[in-house]
Amino acid sequence: HAKNCGKNNAKLYSSSLTMQIMSHVKLEVGLRKALQNNELYLLYQPQIDVSSAQIVGVEALVRWRHPEHGIIPPNDFIPLAEETGLIVPIGEWVLRTACTQAKAWQQTCRRAIRMAVNLSARQFKDENLTQIVLSALGDTGLEPRLLELELTEGTLMDDARATMIMLEQLRGIGVLLSIDDFGTGYSSMSYLKRFDVRALKIDKSFIVGLPQDSENAAITRAIIAMAHGLKMIVVAEGVETGEQLLLLEQYGCDMAQGYFLGRPAPQDAITRMLAAQRAPASPAPP
Ligand code: C2E
Ligand code: MG
Ligand code: MG
Ligand code: MG
Repeated sequence: HAKNCGKNNAKLYSSSLTMQIMSHVKLEVGLRKALQNNELYLLYQPQIDVSSAQIVGVEALVRWRHPEHGIIPPNDFIPLAEETGLIVPIGEWVLRTACTQAKAWQQTCRRAIRMAVNLSARQFKDENLTQIVLSALGDTGLEPRLLELELTEGTLMDDARATMIMLEQLRGIGVLLSIDDFGTGYSSMSYLKRFDVRALKIDKSFIVGLPQDSENAAITRAIIAMAHGLKMIVVAEGVETGEQLLLLEQYGCDMAQGYFLGRPAPQDAITRMLAAQRAPASPAPP
């Protein structure tokens, strides 16, 4: 499946014209310098608690401000970062930056905002991962329960034994784990039962056609029922309309994320959203 085809170079360039024009080598040389030249930055997308309509978390999403080609989205450089191993230092930078920001929000907004960070397969296989996570938490002072690591089904299903060991180590630190893009990869139900995972994030491809698409509606309901049965919560990704949010609320979906609730935004825009929510008399957001 597509997620595991990062080695297929044609796939790397498929997503934008820039990437089709830029050579593989040039992109790699540029990416190596991106970190030291401060060209990477994070946007944060709100995650809303469906029943209270409050922002309870954000997901950190990396961007690359390329000196010649402008802003490059993660799907255009994360696969190359994976392939070259550059994802390890980039991922560490993402983790530290995100933890610093979550701690800052906790202090300035006096709100505990959960920070979700995407981990790629290569990072998950890195034997130093627990140490990297521990030191990011230690250096920023962020409580582990406010950090959530998003893994994909592909990452989790790769090597059963190594996966269990790594998951146990991460849970031992006290961070939360969730499965991203759920429903698009291969998950073994018996593994789901054994993994101590807090949340399933229903992939946006299932949400996009709601409420009209009855098959996607059935899949969405089934995922929610299964997750709740396994004592996991459900986050719907890619919520673009009020109708979708209403339907998800009827289905008992716990959390939602998507353009309707807020696009990925710079840190100061999120700070304003959090401040606006704190006013006790303010009406519930849409
Ligand atoms: P993801 O983790 O599944 O993140 C959700 C993606 O859906 C984001 O794309 C987000 O901007 C987009 N999205 C959010 N709401 C909506 C909506 O309502 N409609 C639609 N159509 N899209 C929506 P983005 O930021 O381009 O990131 C793409 C992927 O790149 C992420 O998918 C994640 O797999 C990866 N990624 C992003 N940041 C990082 C990172 O720091 N580390 C790693 N390893 N991967 C990352
Ligand atoms: Mg994610
Ligand atoms: Mg996703
Ligand atoms: Mg993804």
